[in-house]
Amino acid sequence: MALKTTCQECGGVIEVPDDVIIGEIVSCPDCGIDYEVSQINNGSIQLKIAEDIGEDWGE
Ligand SMILES: [Zn+2]
Repeated sequence: MALKTTCQECGGVIEVPDDVIIGEIVSCPDCGIDYEVSQINNGSIQLKIAEDIGEDWGE
């Protein structure tokens, strides 16, 4: 079983496992953008774009 949400970039469907946790990173299968899970409510999930991922590396 999976939760489904819509990609804010391309409108594609992103499926997220129902045991996902807040803060986990999921990727859009269509455009590859990374999202962070920000909220989970009774089977509906909210994502925010994880723009910061990778920027803390190698400084
Ligand atoms: Zn997408």
